[in-house]
Amino acid sequence: MTRSIKPLVAGNWKMNGLKADLAIAAEVAKGYDATLKPNVDLAICPPSSLLFTATAALIGSRIATGGQDCSTQASGAFTGEVSAAMLADAGANFCIAGHSERRTLHGETSATVKAKAEAAQKALLVPIVCVGETKDEREAGKALAVVRKQLRGSVPEGAGAATLVVAYEPVWAIGTGLTPTAADVAEMHEAIRAELGRLVGKQAAAGVRLLYGGSVKPSNAAELMNVANVDGALVGGASLKAEDFLAIARACAG
Ligand code: PEP
Repeated sequence: MTRSIKPLVAGNWKMNGLKADLAIAAEVAKGYDATLKPNVDLAICPPSSLLFTATAALIGSRIATGGQDCSTQASGAFTGEVSAAMLADAGANFCIAGHSERRTLHGETSATVKAKAEAAQKALLVPIVCVGETKDEREAGKALAVVRKQLRGSVPEGAGAATLVVAYEPVWAIGTGLTPTAADVAEMHEAIRAELGRLVGKQAAAGVRLLYGGSVKPSNAAELMNVANVDGALVGGASLKAEDFLAIARACAG
C-alpha cells in the first residue's frame, strides 16, 4: 500500500450481468459504509448494456462506474463499437483499457491500448491501463521487461495521478486462482512506478494508483493489498459476489 494514496477497488464484471444482477451493485452500495468510504474508493465496471442503469442505481452511494473497453474512435461507422464519450454519457468515470482478454482475444497491441486510453481521457474518463506478462514470459525471466515495454507503449503522454490508473494483471493469474508471491508483486509494482516516473515524470508517477489484479479474493486480499506500491485491486470473479467484493474493499481499506 502507498499510504498517501487512497486505494481503489474496481470490479470487472466482464461479459456477465443482466438487469437482475444490479442487485449485486445495490448490495455493495449497502455495505460501503462510513468506515469504508474515507479509506477506499470503489468502482464497478459492468457490461456496457448495464452501465446507464448501474450508474443510476448507484447514485448517492459514491461508488463509481466504468466501461470495460472503448473505441479508439470518437464516432462514426464503427458498428458494434462504443465510444468513450458514450460511456461518459452513460455515467461512467473509468474505462478499462488493454485488459489481457482484449489484448489476447482481440489482438489489441499496446498502440491500440494507448489510443483507447487517450480516447478515454479525452472523454474525461480515467483509463485503467492493464499490463501483465504470460506464464511463459514469467518462467523465462522476462516479466519485468515485458511489463515495462507494455507501459511504454500503452500509457498516454502527459498522464497524471488524477488521469491514469495502472493495473498489473499477470495473465496467468486471471481467473485461475493462482497469484504471484507478495515479493514478486512488490518487485513488479516498484518497477512499474519507476517506469511511469520515466514516462510521465516522477511527481505524477508517485500519485498514480497501481492496482493488482488476478485471482484476488477475500482470503488473499490482505496480503496482496499490504504490498508496497499496491494501491488497490482490479477484481474479476470475486466482484460478482457483493460479500466478497466488500471483503476485498475492507482488506484494502486496512
Ligand atoms: C480481471 O478480469 O481483471 C481479473 C482480475 O479476474 P479475476 O479476479 O477473476 O482473476
